[in-house]
Amino acid sequence: MHLKKTPPGKDRVHAHAGEGNLSPPYRPSETPAAPKTRGRSRARRTAFFFIVVILLPLLYGAAVVQGAAPILTEAEKEFIRKHPVIRVGINPNFAPFEFLDNWRNYAGIAPDYLALISEKTGLRFAPAVEVPYTETQEKVRAGELDLLPALDWTAEWEKEFLLTQRYYEYKPALVVREDSPFKSVEEFRGRPLAVQKNTANVQFAFSTLQAGLSLYASEEDALLAVTDGRETAMLGYLPAVLHAIRKLGLPNLNYITFASGNSNGLCMGVRTDLPELRDILNKALAAVTPSEKAAIHSRWIHVSGIGDAGEKRRIRYLAGASAALLLAMAAFIVLKIYSHRKRIALHRQNECILQSMVRQRTEDLQNQTRLAVEASHAKSAFLATMSHEIRSPMNVVVGLAEVLLRRELPPDVAKEVRYIRQAGVSLLSIINDILDFSKIEAGKITITDEEYAFRDLIRDVEDIIRFRISDKPVDFIVRIDAWLPDRLRGDMNRVRQVLLNLLGNAVKYTRLGSVTLTVIGAMTANDKVRLFFEVADTGIGIRREDMDALFNSFGRVDVQSHPEIEGTGLGLTIARSLCRAMDGDVTATSEYGKGSVFTAALLQRVVERRLQSVSVAQEKTRTVTFTAPEAEVLIVDDLPGNLLVAEGLLAPYRMRLFTCANGREAVDLVTERPFDLVLMDHMMPVMGGVEAMLAIRALNEARCRTMPVVALTADAVSGMREMFLENGFNDFLSKPVDVDRLDTVLRQWIPACKRISVPEDGSGL
Ligand code: ADP
Repeated sequence: MHLKKTPPGKDRVHAHAGEGNLSPPYRPSETPAAPKTRGRSRARRTAFFFIVVILLPLLYGAAVVQGAAPILTEAEKEFIRKHPVIRVGINPNFAPFEFLDNWRNYAGIAPDYLALISEKTGLRFAPAVEVPYTETQEKVRAGELDLLPALDWTAEWEKEFLLTQRYYEYKPALVVREDSPFKSVEEFRGRPLAVQKNTANVQFAFSTLQAGLSLYASEEDALLAVTDGRETAMLGYLPAVLHAIRKLGLPNLNYITFASGNSNGLCMGVRTDLPELRDILNKALAAVTPSEKAAIHSRWIHVSGIGDAGEKRRIRYLAGASAALLLAMAAFIVLKIYSHRKRIALHRQNECILQSMVRQRTEDLQNQTRLAVEASHAKSAFLATMSHEIRSPMNVVVGLAEVLLRRELPPDVAKEVRYIRQAGVSLLSIINDILDFSKIEAGKITITDEEYAFRDLIRDVEDIIRFRISDKPVDFIVRIDAWLPDRLRGDMNRVRQVLLNLLGNAVKYTRLGSVTLTVIGAMTANDKVRLFFEVADTGIGIRREDMDALFNSFGRVDVQSHPEIEGTGLGLTIARSLCRAMDGDVTATSEYGKGSVFTAALLQRVVERRLQSVSVAQEKTRTVTFTAPEAEVLIVDDLPGNLLVAEGLLAPYRMRLFTCANGREAVDLVTERPFDLVLMDHMMPVMGGVEAMLAIRALNEARCRTMPVVALTADAVSGMREMFLENGFNDFLSKPVDVDRLDTVLRQWIPACKRISVPEDGSGL
């Protein structure tokens, strides 16, 4: 039979031998290999530190303690050599101190100690498992066995055997049910107790507690009796009781430990003739370390779900307190999370509110914009409808006035009817303007594209204006560039409307002097011609500060000075809108009290480039006396409209034109090209005309000092000419440009070698 170290709860590997009932001695169990440590470098460093600084010294210390072998005398060593195997008598039912387990292996606290002694001394122990327990004591006395390893120390045993020191101490315990009202041993005095018969407990219960005894064959039977209610309590040794409870799996039991007066403990009983063995065992037991003792104890004495009743209460209290603490912490955390979430929710809510406010505001603004647009459209629609509705009755008024005038009427009545007709015509023109304006505002203005005879159009306009001007001491002069093509494509009626508007204003605001229409053109790419209609008058003029308000709708300026002149303030707005719709614009210059120049530029398609002789009834004013295709002219002006006019005026000369927007750019350009002539505006941003002139004259190149530079300015104040000449300008042209004067100036400064004369009939242009 083998003697094996068999920790409970683990499957045991076992092998049985037949007769030779001596087992090989115990071998210390092998230390399991340490698990490999993996992890990051920091974790490795920590582990390394732990191993080197803490674990190694501990292990070393433990090794020293564990490895501490008892110091044996020579006689003792000799004894071991002579008695290598010690025969052990065992109690197979004294669990957990010693017993035979289900596989009949010798197991328990005492065998574990024997294994340790074996390690420390080299002695080997062979349990006599076949010898009945009742015979073991006798056999030890007879010298057939050497040792009883698990005796409950008593004075009686001491008389019969050589006892070792007590190597395992324990207390008696009363086991009760969990619901038992008894809390202390004293309460059992005189009461019946369940006890295993033939044990020291019987004596103890009887003499110390004076209890009535119920004797049971085993502790397990006694425990079962308590569990099923047949007994109130059972008395036993705590380790034995706990072991039995675990083995049986009994629930709902408590135990009460108490001091018995005599301390209970296990010792070993040695054959009386082997005192060396007793000494060796004592030395070996003294060498057992506390940790080894603790390991053996915890291996056998561990039961969950049962405990000291008082301890259980403390544990319950502690568990309750811990649970309460945990609950409080959990509640705190939950509260924190809740309040955090609440804050987030509030934040989100605010965000939502803000977003909805922004959305609402955006919607409001969109609605307001829509309403404004709708209101504007409604206004335009209203104006259009009203104008249209008024036109019909007005036609009747004007028409009937015309019919009446054809009849024989008394002179005073005829005069009154003429007033009616005149007033009707004026009203109709106002209504037409309003109609146009409302169309422009509504974006409904349309520009047609039809072929028409340009000179016939000019003739029509001229007739109308001449008729209007007939009762005024004002000359009407028309100048038209001879080379302009006659067949054009575009919106003839819109061109007429622009012309009548500008000329109508000129007639309206001029009492004396002249109104001059100059028409010039410049070919552009794609067979188009940019037409320039310059309307110059010698009328009332416009104050400089009023110039900006000219093109405002319903904007009339200087009304106080001339309250008798009627108007709506829409004409120029309409004219500019129409010109812009035809890729052009309307610009104006004026001198208050002296007159104004309005220039309308617009783009028309050329149908036939064949030149036509002037068929306008008026005498032709020949303005272009030469062409100069080789000449290069630089025009410097910051206003694109003025550049357009200058280009238009110079177009008939067929010169190569360059433009720039200020004096600084002009200075740069003249260093690059040897221009034949520079036409320089006076007031410009970045660098004005005079400053640029001085800079040009200061340049190194000799040609820059002689390059002709002519001032081209709207400043018509007296003394300006002298100022320009003094600052190095070669000549002076005032805006609006007089085309005859322009021709004279050009003829003077463009080199003769580059000029090609134009015959009187305009051929060759
Ligand atoms: P209106 O019907 O009043 O003439 P316009 O839009 O045609 O409206 O002109 C706007 C304002 O510009 C006029 O009220 C007038 O003060 C000024 N104006 C227009 N043309 C001339 C001009 N040739 N001479 C002087 N002032 C002019």
